[in-house]
Amino acid sequence: MFELKVVTRFAAAHQLRMVAEKCENLHGHNWKIEVYVSGDSLTAAGVLIDFGEIKADLAAIMNRLDHKFLNELDYFSNDVPPSSENIARYIAVKLQDKIGSRAVRVSRVAAWESEDACATYICD
Ligand SMILES: [Zn+2]
Repeated sequence: MFELKVVTRFAAAHQLRMVAEKCENLHGHNWKIEVYVSGDSLTAAGVLIDFGEIKADLAAIMNRLDHKFLNELDYFSNDVPPSSENIARYIAVKLQDKIGSRAVRVSRVAAWESEDACATYICD
């Protein structure tokens, strides 16, 4: 099994209810996102997938999140609030859609909302 990791970042605002009191106020984070893709077989070039392809797909997803008020995006709602956990899952789902290959799977996405706090979505 091979695993690749790509790191990217975005800045956005969100508002979460019923977490800690200070999270209920509108605030922002500079999220650091780590995506992992894995697979068993390599292309003729000896790679799992071109890093450039993952980066381009990820850039398109970041474009939809960067400098946004995340609560207002279609994907998020009262049932799916834009927590770091749900942001990680959102990115995993969107990236897998874009890669569109069964041989290359998004295995997990980690969303760092600060230097010492990270939520990871592990795909099954
Ligand atoms: Zn927050």
